[in-house]
Amino acid sequence: MVTAVNRADLSGIGMTSQRTRARLVQRLSEQGISNTAVLDVMRNTPRHLFLDEAMAHRAYEDVALPIGYQQTLSQPYIVARMTELLLAQGPRRRVLEIGTGSGYQTAVLAQLVDEVFSVERIKPLQLKARQRLRQLKLRNVQMNHADGAMGWPERGPFDGILAAAAPQRIPQELLQQLDIGGRLVIPVGTEEQQLQVVSRTREGFQTDIVESVYFVPLRPGTEK
Ligand code: SAH
Repeated sequence: MVTAVNRADLSGIGMTSQRTRARLVQRLSEQGISNTAVLDVMRNTPRHLFLDEAMAHRAYEDVALPIGYQQTLSQPYIVARMTELLLAQGPRRRVLEIGTGSGYQTAVLAQLVDEVFSVERIKPLQLKARQRLRQLKLRNVQMNHADGAMGWPERGPFDGILAAAAPQRIPQELLQQLDIGGRLVIPVGTEEQQLQVVSRTREGFQTDIVESVYFVPLRPGTEK
């Protein structure tokens, strides 16, 4: 079982939403999320801080929400599911996240693994996410403004990689930067997308298809 090694002290921030979050977490467990460390972290992480004020009142609905630049904050169920899949074979030390977006998934990961390396191609989203993580005192996160399809070779290899945007095919760079024993959780496809888990062993790569999903596409290059 994974323990929350970097659990931040988030008490005091967003206390009013505590009960609403507890209801959300209850729904997630009814939907089959069973990793209690993941559920605990989501119960304690104020998702409303990752949205603009106009959207904040919808923060604890189990839906994806717009964060500008045609991007979305992933649905809580998906965040929980992907995190659970990433941790399914035991604790992770160095995790690469592709698509920082609002920084919510980053904040969840940062409380469950040793170090998070998060790549985002849209600069203003990265800057906002960085501020939010600072506000929550989550200090084990490094960020990079780059095309995540390249991974982050200077920081690899990783024992976990999680992508929040869907490529047509899994980039070779990500497979190369996955350590032996590492797990890659990634949506793959264009219109029809499948959530895939790739495990790397000494023998090679094993791919499992988990469920159908809908993510924004992984886009090439960066935006200022
Ligand atoms: N986990 C985020 C999801 C944001 S949506 C959240 O919950 O807020 C997916 C994000 O992936 C977007 O911010 C988008 O800009 C980013 N993205 C898309 N293609 C990318 C790429 N090639 N490299 C890095 N980030 C990318």
